[in-house]
Amino acid sequence: MTDSTDEDSPACRQCGTPVGPSSEQRVITTVEDGTTVYRHFCTDECREQWESSNTV
Ligand SMILES: [Zn+2]
Repeated sequence: MTDSTDEDSPACRQCGTPVGPSSEQRVITTVEDGTTVYRHFCTDECREQWESSNTV
């Protein structure tokens, strides 16, 4: 048996690197139009870069 997840290994939103089960990964959860959206990043650095380029 394998662990079942709803999605394949996600890619980093910033650099596109597949985000594995690493301690470095970051996941941001936001709610858009009532839908929970998960954004994966390979490192905290990528998360910060993405946030700085997606200021709301
Ligand atoms: Zn990245």
